[in-house]
Amino acid sequence: MKTDVLILGGGLAGLSTAYHLNECGGLSSLVVEKNAAVGGTAGSVKQGGFVFDYTGHLLHLHDPYGKNLVLGLLRGNLAAHERSSWIYSRDVYTRYPFQANTYGLPSKVVEDCLAGFFKTIHRLDWRPLSPRPSFRDWSLRQFGAGISRHFMFPYNEKLWRTPLSRMTTEWQGRFVPKPAASEVLYGALADQKKFFGYNASFRYPKRGGIQVLPDALAARLKPGQIKTSSPVLSVDLRERVAVAQGLGEVGFSRLVNTLPLVDFLDLAAPFPAAVRAARAKLRYNTVYCLNLGVNRAALPEKHWVYFPEKKYPFYRVGCYSNFAAANAPQGTSSFYIEISRRAWEKADLPRLENAVLSGLRSCRILKSGDKLLSKFWMPIRCAYVVYDFERTQAVEAIFKALGKMGVESIGRYGGWKYSFMEETILDGKRCAERLAGRSQPARLSPGDAQAELKPLK
Ligand SMILES: Cc1cc2nc3c(=O)[nH]c(=O)nc-3n(C[C@H](O)[C@H](O)[C@H](O)COP(=O)(O)OP(=O)(O)OC[C@H]3O[C@@H](n4cnc5c(N)ncnc54)[C@H](O)[C@@H]3O)c2cc1C
Repeated sequence: MKTDVLILGGGLAGLSTAYHLNECGGLSSLVVEKNAAVGGTAGSVKQGGFVFDYTGHLLHLHDPYGKNLVLGLLRGNLAAHERSSWIYSRDVYTRYPFQANTYGLPSKVVEDCLAGFFKTIHRLDWRPLSPRPSFRDWSLRQFGAGISRHFMFPYNEKLWRTPLSRMTTEWQGRFVPKPAASEVLYGALADQKKFFGYNASFRYPKRGGIQVLPDALAARLKPGQIKTSSPVLSVDLRERVAVAQGLGEVGFSRLVNTLPLVDFLDLAAPFPAAVRAARAKLRYNTVYCLNLGVNRAALPEKHWVYFPEKKYPFYRVGCYSNFAAANAPQGTSSFYIEISRRAWEKADLPRLENAVLSGLRSCRILKSGDKLLSKFWMPIRCAYVVYDFERTQAVEAIFKALGKMGVESIGRYGGWKYSFMEETILDGKRCAERLAGRSQPARLSPGDAQAELKPLK
């Protein structure tokens, strides 16, 4: 078997590359996916009438092209939502983000947060930050000691499982809202119903879970352009041949990788010693997602909740059935509970499950009489790329070498970054344009463009 462009992985990055190569015309391409279904981390699993995603997968559409494409692909099957996200600590719910919404917390905590914040903005206890500060130092400078101690440190330690003094700030730009001093003050005095951050609103499919998005992209590819249940076993970069289970040898002229970069570097060869050394420096986290179906509408009106406190083993709990009623049978609700571990840490899932269920009862999301209609773990092996100080240089060295070999490595995991679905789709578009030698960006086919949905308030 031979193709112009071999695309490893049928998640959003791989599917988008194939879709846009077709739009550009000229080059043949083949997507090789290890699972029976396409979608990767943007897939869904159906069980007992529930639809579960790989934890919450909400569409944040910021780019005009990306938005138009997704709205066209999911024509009529998207609902718009205003985020209802919360933090649970000290036995109370406060609004997200913590730094702008301390109202309702015990007065000592509010005092700590405000005192630290105003100290830092008035430059008391102030030390200059290094040009590349750690996330820890940056948080102290940006938010002060109280907000850092009550939320930023414990929450981020739970998520990243990495000392925050070893993490850079490269990832946080749009993910950590930075309210003005007046907003921090107002949010301590009153319930500030104001939206902050890149995900203040989102869209989500009315039916079918997030799986409908990769399915819609896949449906636009040519017959036979995707080979599922075909894990790639090895890639010979010199001979330009890959071996995939069930397919045998596949020759290619150009290669697009969307597998986690660490996996690709392990199964492809040959690489210079410098690349192998850089690969050893890449770190990531595994997210263990416990999916639950519950026999009543638990946690009404909340989309997801952050849990900074150590006594809860999870860092976030979200409610799929609040994204779309069709995600759960009538009168029931469905949840994802997220726990993070370093890639090399073993998780004792039966023990963790007991701790999770007891945590959910203690914060009263579950009641003692609740029946669990569905319950299963969904590990996401490579979920978050860790932005420690070693990552930047390692990634630079690897991409320089891949560039020289004519290999594209894109998407959230191929690109080894913290990005969301729309960006992943756009990665595929730009990659296709580069491969096709297009200087002009691709445009949507008339059939795939759609007029704007009703704007959010
Ligand atoms: C916990 C979590 C929450 C998230 N929440 C959101 C959100 O709310 N909104 C949002 O926009 N984004 C969210 N994302 C990000 C989103 O999942 C990604 O941006 C996007 O799905 C990444 O797509 P990808 O194609 O780059 O990677 P993947 O989806 O990982 O695709 C890679 C594909 O390669 C396949 N593969 C792996 N090994 C092989 C092999 N050897 N041979 C063949 N195929 C192989 C995999 O099966 C997979 O299908 C979240 C991610 C995580 C982990």
